[in-house]
Amino acid sequence: MFAAPSFRMGRMFGIPIEVNITWIVVFVLVSATLSFSYFPTTFPDRTLAVDLVSGVVTALLFFASIVIHEMSHSLVARAGGIKVEKVTLFLFGGVAQMEEDPATPGREFLMAIAGPLASLVLAAIFAALAFVMSAVGVSNVWWAPFEYLGIINVAVALFNMLPGFPLDGGRVLRSMLWGLSKDQLWATRWACRAGQFIGYSLMALAVFAVLRGSLNLIWLGLVGWFITVLADSAYKQQVIKESLHRNTVLSVASSDVVVAPAGITVEELIFDFFVEGPHTRYPVAEGNAIIGMVTLDAAKRVSRGEWAMTRVREITDTDLASLVIDADEPADRLLDRMRKEAHSALIVKKDGHLAGIVTRADMTSYLRRAKIDR
Ligand SMILES: [Zn+2]
Repeated sequence: MFAAPSFRMGRMFGIPIEVNITWIVVFVLVSATLSFSYFPTTFPDRTLAVDLVSGVVTALLFFASIVIHEMSHSLVARAGGIKVEKVTLFLFGGVAQMEEDPATPGREFLMAIAGPLASLVLAAIFAALAFVMSAVGVSNVWWAPFEYLGIINVAVALFNMLPGFPLDGGRVLRSMLWGLSKDQLWATRWACRAGQFIGYSLMALAVFAVLRGSLNLIWLGLVGWFITVLADSAYKQQVIKESLHRNTVLSVASSDVVVAPAGITVEELIFDFFVEGPHTRYPVAEGNAIIGMVTLDAAKRVSRGEWAMTRVREITDTDLASLVIDADEPADRLLDRMRKEAHSALIVKKDGHLAGIVTRADMTSYLRRAKIDR
């Protein structure tokens, strides 16, 4: 889903807001349902033009409401020290992408509940607007969208509070089980199972409705399918994290490290290391000290004519703070570090000395050896 392109729409509180191309589908669907079904049925005396404009405006305000819902999750997450990458609108609504999970059940609870609470507050504001406007005799052209937005935001809050992961209610459930049991994996397992149950129930409901000749609930069936997929992968992810957490970085790393001297030329690096050797990156040493990492990509950026004149130290990434990880740290830190810093390999040090290197491939083969299953 997220492989489809997204477009940056702007920022709110410093957090980028993106619209995924798949969102267009649901935007058209919502606008059309409002323009051709909801408004004509609720207010039969209006013209098609009024219904069309109302449909599009209401759909836009509905998706603005979703952004505010996701923003609330994001701001609570950020207050708890979690970096929020972006908020994305896509086929099945909105999602706030975070760099890591909350560290405590309390934080997860607050973060999860913030979205539905925001939807309820929005519902109250929209309902009050509609009520006051209709009470003072303003035409329904003006207040009908607000009335609908009041109803739909309550529906968003209620749906999201269904107690199954990855829905907000599922996160609330997980935080409570986690707080009670102190066992995050166990809590995740049950919150995800509840999520799968809810997902399959929605799919069953949709099938049942179709068999009875109604196509209205097909969408709900698709959402249900999406929930089962996410619940399943969230649980697998957690199992991997737990398994890594019980081990150190050193046990995942490869220890047979080849080091490139900083003083050799790029030409030597290319022929003796990249052509001869199996790796696409090497730690670089100046004497006995590791100064950074050099990659095949960095070497490729040097033009052929410069190979013999350029020293490896000139093209070495020397940002050691982001390249080095301590051998004794729990191995699940690797997941966060590689994601956060976009490195596909990290240098492992023990007591200040080079102890190994760890790549994504090392992690994959470690997980395969450990025979992670559910
Ligand atoms: Zn939410």
